[in-house]
Amino acid sequence: MTPGDEVVVALDVGGTGMKCALVRPDGTTVHAERHATDAARGPEAVVGTILDVAEGLAGKARADGLTPVACGIAVPGVVDEARGVAVWSANVGFRDVPLRDLARERLGLPTALGHDVRVGGLAEARLGAGRDAGHVLFVAIGTGIAAAHVVDGSAAVGAHGAAGEIGHILVRPDGPPCGCGRPGCLEAVASASAIGRRYAELSGAPATAAEVADRAATGEPLAGQVWREAVEALADGLATGQALFDVATIVIGGGLAQAGPRLFDPLRTALRERLTFHREPRLVAAALGDEAGCLGAALLALDTLAKESR
Ligand SMILES: [Zn+2]
Repeated sequence: MTPGDEVVVALDVGGTGMKCALVRPDGTTVHAERHATDAARGPEAVVGTILDVAEGLAGKARADGLTPVACGIAVPGVVDEARGVAVWSANVGFRDVPLRDLARERLGLPTALGHDVRVGGLAEARLGAGRDAGHVLFVAIGTGIAAAHVVDGSAAVGAHGAAGEIGHILVRPDGPPCGCGRPGCLEAVASASAIGRRYAELSGAPATAAEVADRAATGEPLAGQVWREAVEALADGLATGQALFDVATIVIGGGLAQAGPRLFDPLRTALRERLTFHREPRLVAAALGDEAGCLGAALLALDTLAKESR
């Protein structure tokens, strides 16, 4: 076996789809495939698919003359990385699933289980837009908002596996209800879904966040107002993040980052207005796209492997 033959079996399990890959230790992807999660089948069936797909990938690696050395799996929700348990997930339905041990038994490979946004942050901090920054806050903005605080290439997990829930920072006490049950959380005001919802509420016509950004850019007053409100709430959230973590770089990922300068220009200005003695972080778009979760799952697996062999 030569080191160039080694690959990690990596899976990023989302509510609708699974991104799966064979990843080399240097972060290059040798093979990628996608599968439907089909969460409506229930968590047991989803776990079955995860194990089948992982086993299939390990087999594919061997058939191609490669050596699978570890397996990394990323899932959403609350994840206990130390115990390897998917504790809770709203969109996949996991309740205390010992996914790491199940995969380890099936594949016979050292396996790591991580949180989708935390491993995404890990990948952006080590291979993507936060490279060489040391202290990075990765913020994924899509249907919800979540973050990963990465220091020197390792993401904080929290005492209960729930670090990084920046989407549930209270930014508007009299704001719209959040999925968590409290009004005015950041993600209830500034997630992509919240932006679409707010515009529909005011205009009576449905729109995606991308459409709101487009219309705001062409000068439609209502879209401009909704976009501005979201940017200001985001800036409030990021200013809180910066006060807590004092990072060098904030990497914004998820669907909303696709808005490009229409998001980043006003957000940078609004964030700057809110900082007093804090140092202003670099604010950049994620570089790895939707591959970040898979790459991060592979990195986490390699980190685990390195720890175990020490
Ligand atoms: Zn909330």
